[in-house]
Amino acid sequence: MPNYKDIEYTLKRSRRKTSSIYVERDGSISVLVPQQLSEKEIEAMIEQKRYQIYSHLAQWEDANTKRVYREFVNGEGFYYLGRNYKLEIVTNQEVPLKLKNGCFRLRKKNLPRAKEAFVEFYKEKGRKRILDRVEYFRKLLDVEPNEIKIMDLQNRWGSWTPKGNVNFHWKTMMAPLTIIDYIIAHELTHLIHPNHSDAFWNELDKIMPDYVQRKAWLKLNGAGMDL
Ligand SMILES: [Zn+2]
Repeated sequence: MPNYKDIEYTLKRSRRKTSSIYVERDGSISVLVPQQLSEKEIEAMIEQKRYQIYSHLAQWEDANTKRVYREFVNGEGFYYLGRNYKLEIVTNQEVPLKLKNGCFRLRKKNLPRAKEAFVEFYKEKGRKRILDRVEYFRKLLDVEPNEIKIMDLQNRWGSWTPKGNVNFHWKTMMAPLTIIDYIIAHELTHLIHPNHSDAFWNELDKIMPDYVQRKAWLKLNGAGMDL
């Protein structure tokens, strides 16, 4: 792998006329340049973007230090509503996954598709609980959301569209109830203020005066809540 000073990168040449530097999902750096660019020119470009590269790397580390890769084995812990439950693999069960006697019980024949079983579990629970809480905050904020979906939003907890559709990540169900409420109230407040202006935070503050603590909790612990 080529490196320039302390920055190690993968070089990719393309037919494009412009150069770009990316921090990939795994934290590695890719440098994409036109076919003809010389090594000297590449190094000059990296030097020029050194500060940006470092700030991107810092952001990446921030988001990934708490990233946990869980294994679907007996005893591994999985979150639901802010609590950690141990996994138990069972042979006989009528559903792929359920919470029983303080354990997540996964049916053995679903083991090859264990992640899907968990995602489905969170989605199903989310459809009930999140919709209930949307209804509660909708009234407080006096907004009319259109369609509510529980889905995979990659690195976001929630999203919304100008048409008033609001989406929540199924991972939301791993968080404690107070944090789920924050995520819901946050997205619904966007139906009034589309950005993160002072007006947006003031509006949220009216219905959730301790939103700052909840937001901080999510920033600190959110990356650890994943499959
Ligand atoms: Zn937002």
